[in-house]
Amino acid sequence: MPETSVDTNTLPAVFDGHNDVLLRLYRAGGPKAAESFVTGGPGHIDLPKAREGGLGGGFFAVYVPSDEGDTDHDEMARDSYDLPLPEPVPQDRALQVAMAQIATLERLQELGALKICRSAAEIHISMVEHKLAAVLHMEGAEAIDPELITLDVLHGAGLRSLGPVWSRPTIFGEGVPFRYPSDGNTGGGLTDLGVALVRRCNALKIMLDLSHMTMAGFWDVAKHSDAPLVATHSNAHAICPHARNLTDAQLDAIAASDGMVGLNYATAFLRPDGRMVDTGLDDMLRHLDHLLDRLGESRVGLGSDFDGALIPSAIGTAAGLPALRRAMVAHGYGPELIARICQGNWLRVLEKTWGH
Ligand SMILES: [Zn+2]
Repeated sequence: MPETSVDTNTLPAVFDGHNDVLLRLYRAGGPKAAESFVTGGPGHIDLPKAREGGLGGGFFAVYVPSDEGDTDHDEMARDSYDLPLPEPVPQDRALQVAMAQIATLERLQELGALKICRSAAEIHISMVEHKLAAVLHMEGAEAIDPELITLDVLHGAGLRSLGPVWSRPTIFGEGVPFRYPSDGNTGGGLTDLGVALVRRCNALKIMLDLSHMTMAGFWDVAKHSDAPLVATHSNAHAICPHARNLTDAQLDAIAASDGMVGLNYATAFLRPDGRMVDTGLDDMLRHLDHLLDRLGESRVGLGSDFDGALIPSAIGTAAGLPALRRAMVAHGYGPELIARICQGNWLRVLEKTWGH
């Protein structure tokens, strides 16, 4: 189908499961860098690119970088690799970084670039009004103290989604390393504090994100949480046997809990050979087909990892999202299914997790 035959204005806006734009802006100066988001510049997401590509909103991750530096993408371009887990991050430093990133999100709202949404209804209204809908998410709970006092304060500040771990150890549990080939059976599960964190998140109706958890941690959350199981940015281990991806048994548990998975665009989690080098949209469709097969049509969404990973050049940035939606059309997905994948399923699961 020639590209010009699809009117991108009729494609549903994308609500996205994961981006790292707050980290990018933190490195560019924090709240001071917020205006560059409005005017546009380098990076995967800013306001002009969101408008051009039909990005309607998503989870904005607060993430504290490790002292060891960034994940080694050059190493991940090899045939196989096993990156060591970084050291734990002390809570005082993590909290300081988290405050700077949340202040940046607040500044973006002050500038009119987005709205921080605390309910599914707010997301829906924001997207109808063409205002970027942002959910405050934390990727790794390093900023949270053992008594969970910080968690209550962060919830008051708008936190509605939390990954107990990134790919490193915390007092709550341990994340999976960037390892290929491997499954997520790489380390320990939740600690007692991790179980308490899960229970408090359930009570506060903060969504728990299972991306980056070890397999043991995944099953611990499945055992202790009363909410739908969600992985915001993970792919199918059956297609790409990476430690970050989910096995069919994990996908079946997510389906049984009526949760969902957001497709991660990072090429290392898409390509069957696990290499962090460019790949085509066909690999994304293979994962979507598998996720739809295991989870059903109401439990699959998108979770780009924009500004946090190498993504297919056919998409490039948020401005390139129409290419993915056109590929879904060409692959035979109907308009209803595409609308569910692009936004409807996230709204469904968030309403179910957060309540009305
Ligand atoms: Zn991540």
